[in-house]
Amino acid sequence: MLTVAEKSARRFAAETPLGRTRRARKINRVLAEAHPDAACELDFDTPFQLLVATVLSAQTTDVRVNRVTPVLFAAYPDAPALAAAELPDVEEIIRPTGFFRAKARNIVALARDLVDDHDGEVPADLDALVALPGTGRKTALVVLGNAFGVPGLTVDTHVGRLVRRLGLTAATDPVAVERDVAALYPPRDLTMLSHRLIFHGRRICHSRRPACGVCPLTRLCPSFGIGEPDPEKAQALVRTATAVQLDRAARTGPDAAGRAPGEPEARGSAPSGAGPRGDASA
Ligand code: SF4
Repeated sequence: MLTVAEKSARRFAAETPLGRTRRARKINRVLAEAHPDAACELDFDTPFQLLVATVLSAQTTDVRVNRVTPVLFAAYPDAPALAAAELPDVEEIIRPTGFFRAKARNIVALARDLVDDHDGEVPADLDALVALPGTGRKTALVVLGNAFGVPGLTVDTHVGRLVRRLGLTAATDPVAVERDVAALYPPRDLTMLSHRLIFHGRRICHSRRPACGVCPLTRLCPSFGIGEPDPEKAQALVRTATAVQLDRAARTGPDAAGRAPGEPEARGSAPSGAGPRGDASA
């Protein structure tokens, strides 16, 4: 007797490359409906601020980064200011983000490189970005996609997990994942696809207990059934707001409609009735 997950996998076993491309694009459309508020959750006003915030986000949550960057950017609003900073002062501000000594060294060094090599501006160029201290490919793609409108797929832990569950790649290496998934979409779709996958991972397709029974991708997913297939039980696993949205609500209060700022109005079978929960992995 096959399990639910085995039956799901069997349905897609003979999928053609064209079929996979069509399914991948449908997945993006369904995710756009389910998560209309999907966006970069790091707070920033300039490319420089996004670059620094993304470097700080390694090994910590966006919530923690968003809590320290207002103080950091009030003191050091641009590359010349941060390049002239005293390291201990920067360390003290960013301490809550963890690995603060290495991160302080990196952001001050990258600010100095920006001043020395790029007139204090962040270059809109992948090779130039990854040459900066503390700046890997993922950070560079976040900056290009969200500060400069240059599309790209950002493969973080949520994106990697989801595209494998969705059968869009079998790869585990982030660059191979990026290559496989990018081949299924027009480039203009990739930045928003990253955000939608991340929001879906934070709200429904969790690492340990995916809420399959209320997932809007049920019919499109070869992994349906690896999580909770019963809709009632699955509904209890759903998180309606991301940790950043909950944190912003706690700091600014709910909007006039009673929703947290940025919290979506539920659509389709996504999280309509569950109470909001924090997301420690967000
Ligand atoms: S929650 Fe379940 S059905 Fe939805 S994408 Fe994840 S594994 Fe697939």
